[in-house]
Amino acid sequence: MLPGEDTEFAFELRVCRWAERAWEPAREDSVVLVARQLGTRDRRWDTLILECDPEGLRQRANFGLDALDSDLLHVVRHAPDDWTYYRDALPYPGYPWRYVREALHRAADRGVVETRKSGNRIECRRRWAYPDWCRRIVAVENKPDLDASAADALVSQLEHDVALSLADEAWVATRATGGAVEPVLFENLPVQAGILTVDVGDGDGRPASDASVAWHARSLAVDDPGTRILERPDGSEFDASAARFEYADPGWKADKRREIAERAYARGWRSYVDTMRPDCRHFQAREDGALLPWCDANGRCQTAGECSGRCSEFEPEPPAWRTKGWPIEGGPGAATKRLLARRRRGRRPGLEE
Ligand code: SF4
Repeated sequence: MLPGEDTEFAFELRVCRWAERAWEPAREDSVVLVARQLGTRDRRWDTLILECDPEGLRQRANFGLDALDSDLLHVVRHAPDDWTYYRDALPYPGYPWRYVREALHRAADRGVVETRKSGNRIECRRRWAYPDWCRRIVAVENKPDLDASAADALVSQLEHDVALSLADEAWVATRATGGAVEPVLFENLPVQAGILTVDVGDGDGRPASDASVAWHARSLAVDDPGTRILERPDGSEFDASAARFEYADPGWKADKRREIAERAYARGWRSYVDTMRPDCRHFQAREDGALLPWCDANGRCQTAGECSGRCSEFEPEPPAWRTKGWPIEGGPGAATKRLLARRRRGRRPGLEE
């Protein structure tokens, strides 16, 4: 483990890197995409693994790298082959048509549908059919130090995941210690959740090379109605309140899964650099496969929270570092951003440079 790599942030990047290289999808021909820190309003997952249909993924690239939000998805999924008045072509979305018109104009500006005026009417037609590109979503919660108290804190999150069944599988990833995973963990966590132990390397900076399954996850019923747990008794003898639940229908779940997949496609896991300061002269990306961020001033991996303009050691790159091709090429910070963006695009076939 590198100095400073004992944080959840660094562990998460290692897990993402491992998943990208070594995750075995349910179908052999699936392509794996990895993203981090995504989910719904009520639940954000640390790592998301998408198992994708290769041809569908290639077709998805027609719509560009940016995510399609729920309104744009409504438009591109239902846009017809031939010019049609938009209210005849698109199903009523359950909110005012003026928002659909706005989405239609945004979609046309992005070049993902075509629109034209016919008298007073706006007509639309598709440029490409929106593909069903994401086959499965696997959610991973990262807890490098998974002791009994950390597992306790995870229980309600994983019970939420299992009850709602928005992801196809729910996992906990923890750091491999060489010892056995504590039996208490198996007792407390829902049986449907899997446990992965991840080897984070031995301090020479080599990437996480392996992970092993301590407990296999079970497939969750993503096509069935799910249950959202809104409130639950805290389990103490003084709390006699009833739990409160809400029903989540399969259509809502399918829409949410598409939205999550879209954001995962756009963001990936290397976008961490966008919220850090690669333009600081002390910033480096460790060339050890995972490209972990490294701070020379502190001599360790830094977290995204530390690496900001508020950092007392922050020093902008000297202008001389940027002279080659600056301002078009930028300095080492811009080069790091470009390298990470190139690697993200490399996992998304069909995108233009
Ligand atoms: S901003 Fe601070 S933490 Fe980030 S690289 Fe510079 S000195 Fe290190």
